[in-house]
Amino acid sequence: MTQRFLPYGRQALDEQDIAAVAEVLRGDWLTTGPTVDAFEIAFAAACGAEHAIACSNGTTALHLALAALDIGPGDVCVVPAITFMATANAARYCGADVVFADVDPETGLMTPETLDVALEVARLRGTVKAVLPVHLAGQCEDVAGLAQRAHAAGAVLVEDACHAVGSRHEGEPVGSCRHSVSACFSFHPVKTIAAGEGGAITTNDAALAERLRRLRSHGIERDPARMQRQAGEPWWHEMSELGWNYRLSDIQAALALSQLKRLDLFAARRQELAALYDDAFEPLAPRIQPLARTPDCEPCLHLYPVRIDFDAEGTTRTAVMDGLRERGIGSQVHYIPVPDQPYYLDLYGRQDLPGAQRYYARTLSLPLFVGMEDDDPLRVADGLRGVLGR
Ligand SMILES: *Cc1c(COP(=O)(O)O)cnc(C)c1O
Repeated sequence: MTQRFLPYGRQALDEQDIAAVAEVLRGDWLTTGPTVDAFEIAFAAACGAEHAIACSNGTTALHLALAALDIGPGDVCVVPAITFMATANAARYCGADVVFADVDPETGLMTPETLDVALEVARLRGTVKAVLPVHLAGQCEDVAGLAQRAHAAGAVLVEDACHAVGSRHEGEPVGSCRHSVSACFSFHPVKTIAAGEGGAITTNDAALAERLRRLRSHGIERDPARMQRQAGEPWWHEMSELGWNYRLSDIQAALALSQLKRLDLFAARRQELAALYDDAFEPLAPRIQPLARTPDCEPCLHLYPVRIDFDAEGTTRTAVMDGLRERGIGSQVHYIPVPDQPYYLDLYGRQDLPGAQRYYARTLSLPLFVGMEDDDPLRVADGLRGVLGR
């Protein structure tokens, strides 16, 4: 009998989620309305931030976050080489250049040291405006240290927290923006809470929050107090800068809000599963190593990456992934270094980022999702040991 296939990630929906969406469908608002407002309030509270601005996905969250800082041509953003390409693309949408920072080969994270090197390069390329740490797999690395370097270079920190919904850093939820101007989240189904598609930006800056809301909807201003033209014409609205339609719908917000109510449960379950994995892999060290953990961080792990020296094992990652698939186990690679994508190679040429290359060469993401059974981590560990042959 073949066992249930385990994808590397999937959403966890229940009947309450479905009922919440159905309720919106029976109401008057489908696009951005009261449910988006309710979600924004709940999400800001969950992150310990003053404002949350919901938007259509994590990519548009990043684009809005940079656009609202007036980042444009001649400016430079620093992005770690190991991330989903959207982090870098957001800077390009603004016309800014990207300088890629190397990462710690054991965690895949940009560190204050790798940021120092990147900032030297960035200063030669233009005005350094933003540094975007990516909380890969849900982990943070010395955000205060990164912020201090960014500030010294005249830049701010914008967190790509798309993996880190539910993670805590220095005892606070990620998204509290203690060291950053804003943090960007994704509610893609493979992330920790699902909206179908969805995103949000958290910030403690009221003026920035207002601008983000405007830019999310074409740059349109409806508040008479903030318009050039006097009120008295109830239809009047003004567009004084170019924005986009990056709105979240109430349908999506209903799902996100319902999921958010279970965030603590999701985080606890992900932690339990990660602990089961850690135990299962302990006897297999150092051939198979869980992701190295960072201090001061309680991650709500979005991924469960392991490190394997495929060459030393006399195999290839492709063969291992095929072998796992035959055993009903999905796996994935997060990520091909973004500077190696043809678009960025054409733009900036090949770069020497040995930490990113080493991380990439050895990483493999194993299944991690709330619906996994307690014995699944052991099944995956046994499967992986079987594939590696010993
Ligand atoms: C998923 C993700 C994004 C983009 O989010 P979408 O909602 O898919 O647009 C950006 N950065 C990182 C690190 C991500 O994992």
